[in-house]
Amino acid sequence: MAAKEILITPQQSITFEEFHQLAAGILDRVVDRLPRNTVALFNNLLGRAGIKDTLVDIHCHAFTYKNIPRNFIKYPNWIPSQFVRKAAKLLVSKDFGTALDLSQSIKLVDELLRIYHDASVDELNTVVVGVLMMDMERAISGGVEQGFYGQLMEVKELVDNYQFNQGQMSVSGKSHILPFLAIDPHNKDVLHMFLSAFVEDLSIPRYPNIDYGTFQGIKIYPSLGYVPHHPLLMEIYKVCEAKQIPITAHCGGNRTHPSADKIIVSYRKFHPDGSVEDKTQSFILRGEEGDRFTKYFNRPEHWQKILKRHPDLKLNIAHFGSNDDWKLFLSTDINDRAKSGVQQTINLLEYKNVYADFSYSFYSQAHVNGIFNTLATHPFLKNKVMYGSDFYMCQIEKGTLADYYKYVKSVFGHDTEINDNFFVKNAIRFLMA
Ligand SMILES: [Zn+2]
Repeated sequence: MAAKEILITPQQSITFEEFHQLAAGILDRVVDRLPRNTVALFNNLLGRAGIKDTLVDIHCHAFTYKNIPRNFIKYPNWIPSQFVRKAAKLLVSKDFGTALDLSQSIKLVDELLRIYHDASVDELNTVVVGVLMMDMERAISGGVEQGFYGQLMEVKELVDNYQFNQGQMSVSGKSHILPFLAIDPHNKDVLHMFLSAFVEDLSIPRYPNIDYGTFQGIKIYPSLGYVPHHPLLMEIYKVCEAKQIPITAHCGGNRTHPSADKIIVSYRKFHPDGSVEDKTQSFILRGEEGDRFTKYFNRPEHWQKILKRHPDLKLNIAHFGSNDDWKLFLSTDINDRAKSGVQQTINLLEYKNVYADFSYSFYSQAHVNGIFNTLATHPFLKNKVMYGSDFYMCQIEKGTLADYYKYVKSVFGHDTEINDNFFVKNAIRFLMA
């Protein structure tokens, strides 16, 4: 029998004390950190009404098959079970059989933009793309062809040199591609990476392949084996709140969990008297216990205890619930509604800087109509919900982006206020306000 694998939090290469000292050097104003052209574009868009020529897709991925751990397919709860066999074959073929070329980030972004260009029938002049990194190699075994280091190189290449021109649509890496750095507490260099991304005058050597100005936010993916209130993350949130660095947190789409048999999870315990204590708890991840773990770790309600301590945190609760959550929320049973991840997300949106993107949940037309009606009954949500595609996951799991985009546009596009907020302005507020 193979030796049991256990996932634990490693010692960071930088202490919390050093981290906070260096992080104090991050420029205070978001507009001073964003590229100048991006700020000008955003200010212009915020002043307009009836926007049809610009789209902000706040939730995309561009990591390549080389960044996906070899054992990922062995734990394929990220794919509906009827597709598992197909998916196994696809992973071997390295293009997932989707006619997508997964060998380079640039090719993936090209494909994304080509789809928007064709689907919008020459309406779009530009698209702003939030590219979310994934660091799966800590949680999932088997090794990767190109490590996180290589993924950073691809992101840097995208920002430095990418250019898309087709018809009247033009997208440039420097102004329109806004990457989010994956933060996994199981990566021992993650504090160093964070500082390298956000501190302009850094007094220690920068982490390789991370330039200042490349990243505009961070990405958290709890079911890869850490709770949102992990002690290391709590230290990072202090800085994110003070400097208004956006955080996108995967909540809802219950795709994956660590491949280890057991995991020792570190978490911060908040006592009623205000004191805190860092503790650990172990979880078994085999079979159904793994599924339960995934669902538990992705629950939006974990963020309540964090927002209570950091009420100004700029946070995007990604996916706005899973398919199951939407079924519960759209049901007539009031108890079902209350316990759904959708209701939990709506509760979080009461905080002034918390947003939710609709990637994933939108792939069912019933849910598109459901959210449109939800916006009508909860007016404050009009300023909170952002468009996201979850490209290229969507192409693999759910259907085609072209169909999705056209359908969402047809439901949301005819109400000017909802159109502008949903497809453009709410994401700008999340990124810049
Ligand atoms: Zn995603």
